[in-house]
Amino acid sequence: MREENCIFCKLANGEIPSATIYEDEDFRVFLDLNPASRGHALIVPKEHFADLFELDEEHCRKALALAKKIGARMKEKLGCDGLNLVQNNGEAAGQTVFHFHMHLIPRYEADGVGISWKPGSLTPEASAELTALLGAE
Ligand code: 5GP
Ligand code: ZN
Repeated sequence: MREENCIFCKLANGEIPSATIYEDEDFRVFLDLNPASRGHALIVPKEHFADLFELDEEHCRKALALAKKIGARMKEKLGCDGLNLVQNNGEAAGQTVFHFHMHLIPRYEADGVGISWKPGSLTPEASAELTALLGAE
């Protein structure tokens, strides 16, 4: 299913042209318009899912397999030294386009790309509370 006013539905399905580096029946991978680094690309399903929580299991599996495949190609062809997979869900997490996508961000030594957070410290209390709360039922 596509969403009428979704830009990524249009891009993924070729209604709007994109700098495509991979395409199959279910996904398109194209270059990000505002790249964090050389080669920054987005893995986008052709079907509309707002975010990870809407994505079905098969697309989940395929998206990660695709990240591995295209990431390996980036290492080989771009000579990147590392790779970040970034996948934002919800405005609070920085999602701006509400059609599931996974960022592939090739990394180069000392490239200055900022994907970071300020590390906290897991207290014994928080550890106990959270493992009880989030642990398997
Ligand atoms: P988010 O913040 O939702 O995880 O990432 C959305 C990404 O989509 C951003 O990195 C942004 O640069 C990219 N983007 C937004 N609109 C377009 C577009 O029309 N074409 C392409 N190629 N990328 C886009
Ligand atoms: Zn969409």
